Amino acid sequence: MNNSIQIPLDLPDVRVLEVSKTEEGDWLIRVESTLKGTKCRKCGREITHFHGYDHAIRLRHLPIFEQPVYVQFRPKRYQCPDCKGKPTTTQRLSWHELRSPNTKPYERWLLKFLVNSTVVDVARKLDTTEETVTGVLDRWVATKVNWSKFKRMEILGIDEIALKRGHRDYVVLITTPSTTQGVEVLAVLPDRKKETVVKFFASIPLRLRQTIERVCTDMYLGFVNAAREQLPRAHIVLERFHVAQAYRNCADKVRQQELKLLKKQLSEKEYEQIKGAMWPFRKSLEELKDEEWELLQRLFTYSPKMKEAYILREELTAIFERNYTRATAKRAIRAWCKRVLRSQISQFDRFLGTIETWLDQITNYFLERLTSSFVEGFNNRVKVLKRRYYGIFDVDHLFQRLTLDIHGYERFSLT
Ligand SMILES: [Zn+2]
Repeated sequence: MNNSIQIPLDLPDVRVLEVSKTEEGDWLIRVESTLKGTKCRKCGREITHFHGYDHAIRLRHLPIFEQPVYVQFRPKRYQCPDCKGKPTTTQRLSWHELRSPNTKPYERWLLKFLVNSTVVDVARKLDTTEETVTGVLDRWVATKVNWSKFKRMEILGIDEIALKRGHRDYVVLITTPSTTQGVEVLAVLPDRKKETVVKFFASIPLRLRQTIERVCTDMYLGFVNAAREQLPRAHIVLERFHVAQAYRNCADKVRQQELKLLKKQLSEKEYEQIKGAMWPFRKSLEELKDEEWELLQRLFTYSPKMKEAYILREELTAIFERNYTRATAKRAIRAWCKRVLRSQISQFDRFLGTIETWLDQITNYFLERLTSSFVEGFNNRVKVLKRRYYGIFDVDHLFQRLTLDIHGYERFSLT
């Protein structure tokens, strides 16, 4: 019984000459071009005078049943009768890029593996080298943004990524929200100096620069000043997420210091009753389970300061939840600051300074509440991206990888 099957090769403009197995057990498919002629590389005219064959080239192609497959052929050369010196031109096939050791279908397939993965991992899985994988990436994914695909750019985000934990090594991620992908990466900058950011803003085509309405950033003067200089029409918005991080840290400090004190003051039995308070303390009232709420109540009877810190933190969060205008938000935040000053707590003092410096940028958040859920989804996406690329230092490579992760499936899927 013949137990073999036939599979179409699906590469255009070739005829299969022979299929064999190499010594290593790989499939080797020998093909020849069925195209006649090519365009002269000098004059661009169609030429059909056959000159001869080049040396055979062997290209990696899609595997069959996990067996590596190679396609081999000898490129045809054609001679131009019109150009001086009668130069010859090598015929090109649509499924192969000059100098690539792979067919295009293979490269697209490899890139799909690289989405959300790493170069090292893909090289191992596909039994190839890291150089091959980065070579494919370089052929298919640009290292700079293609501005022509954008019509408008209402929101721009600037974020820094720490490349090493605890080190002051940053690259800067410039992004814009996208309706289909959550976020679109515009650039990865090598450092967070103001000049670097200014230079990038200046490189945005003027027609797009004029459409930028908001620049979302964290509390870093270099970013803010760069935006003020280059994008004078845009509102600078301090991310709610960064603001929240700052005041939540203040409340956490109160918790830490108070618990330390309580550990000294309370009996072991009493202290046992308020153990495990960290997570409940970090939750909002709505998030608390009954037993967590009871735990917090016990804690607050021992420490009124912690209660105060908890309430202040939640009050400020509530302000950001409300549908304030910019002016009413300012008033609410100022009133909140006064309550902090009247409280017995000093751990928020530094944050009051932050508000003093950044109140305009903080309250710009209230300018266009309509898009806030949109912006939040976008921020979450940026956070995920930031976590993934930790450890990659080459900004061009970083840009390629981000782009591939965002657009890879859509660009390299079969359908
Ligand atoms: Zn010619």
